[in-house]
Amino acid sequence: MQFFEFTEEQKMLRKAVRDFVEAEVAPKAAEWDEQDVCPIDVFKKLGEMGVNGICIPEAYGGAGQGFVERTICIEELARHSGGLAMTMMTHHLGAALISQYGTEEQKKKYLPDLCSGANIGGLAVTEPGGGSDFIGQKTLAEKKDGGWVINGRKCFITNSHNADVTVVTAKTGEDEKGRNKLSAFLVEKGAEGFTPGRKEHKLGLRASVTGDVALTNVKAPESALLGKEGGGSKIGLEGISEIGRAGMSAICVGLLRACVEEAVKFANERIVYGKPIAKLQAVQFEVAQVRMAYEAARLLTYYAAGLKDNGIPCANEVATAKLFSTEAAVQASKRTMDLMGGYGVINEYPVGRFLRDALTSLSSGGTSHIMQIIIAGNTLTNFQP
Ligand SMILES: Cc1cc2nc3c(=O)[nH]c(=O)nc-3n(C[C@H](O)[C@H](O)[C@H](O)COP(=O)(O)OP(=O)(O)OC[C@H]3O[C@@H](n4cnc5c(N)ncnc54)[C@H](O)[C@@H]3O)c2cc1C
Repeated sequence: MQFFEFTEEQKMLRKAVRDFVEAEVAPKAAEWDEQDVCPIDVFKKLGEMGVNGICIPEAYGGAGQGFVERTICIEELARHSGGLAMTMMTHHLGAALISQYGTEEQKKKYLPDLCSGANIGGLAVTEPGGGSDFIGQKTLAEKKDGGWVINGRKCFITNSHNADVTVVTAKTGEDEKGRNKLSAFLVEKGAEGFTPGRKEHKLGLRASVTGDVALTNVKAPESALLGKEGGGSKIGLEGISEIGRAGMSAICVGLLRACVEEAVKFANERIVYGKPIAKLQAVQFEVAQVRMAYEAARLLTYYAAGLKDNGIPCANEVATAKLFSTEAAVQASKRTMDLMGGYGVINEYPVGRFLRDALTSLSSGGTSHIMQIIIAGNTLTNFQP
């Protein structure tokens, strides 16, 4: 058995991203949250550093690293801005699916600009009929004149208004049991009939854009099909799970670390009874709980990323990491607020934002109920300690 430790290269990556985040993200994160703006200029700079294409092969302009390295980048971003981390993690989702399932032509066309920071990626599967009912999607793609015509509506889509290329799933047929067969398409910003609609005013992760996209007679050539016809369920589910949920888990690891660091800082600085509150045992209990949650979430999340890097199926491990990390981040940010007394609710301190970001992470990529269904299903049929 090996102990969990980053390699020297991974530590160097973490330091480079941490230094960047402390200089360029930390001073602005509260402002982006308050104004609800996505900092595209910073996103582009991260592209120049290699973060946007972290897990894309070098042949297509990426950094040629894996999902552990991607998790390091997202944790560091989320330490100061959950919203920017959300923009990045969803961008990774779109780019990684193109890298994994795209034709050579598609990879050459889209990946270099997605890696450099010039372009943004996204994934649109959720519909007004319920994100949990993935297979029940109503968006329809019909064959016409040698290509496809897509009609439907997607909602809660991250990067809805700023993605240059979005992986969109749609129904293209039914199987013998009458269940939807889905296919995935690459739809470009500005394509006729592809219109961003309502932009959501969210509780948290506010430095990311979330909104509707309408598809009205969108013409997609055969070359826009990602993977095989009928392969969209696998592409969508794998993307949501191993890349999307894993990304949400990484965001919450970053939020948990933020709670540990803010709790320690405040407990050492706040003087009550003439001494720092860090000397009070009740405060120490809160610090211990928050630290424990961070360490556990970190192990689960990096373990799942390591499985993915080794080509080992990890839907159950990702669901476990996502459920634990998101719920733990909600609890830990509330604990940190409690520890701060009245200051916890003063917006000058970032902890209220961490709580809002953690709450907003709960449903994205699948709710806690759905995570429990996945974990229970795996445990009841396939528990191999
Ligand atoms: C900030 C944010 C960003 C997002 N980004 C994207 C994105 O980029 N792309 C994208 O496609 N989607 C995105 N989503 C959508 C997200 O994946 C969905 O919100 C999620 O899948 C839940 O779907 P829903 O909101 O429609 O809830 P519903 O599916 O309507 O669920 C409502 C309630 O019913 C419960 N429920 C549903 N089914 C079951 C069941 N079988 N058993 C038990 N309970 C059940 C749920 O747990 C929940 O409590 C985003 C969401 C958020 C909040």
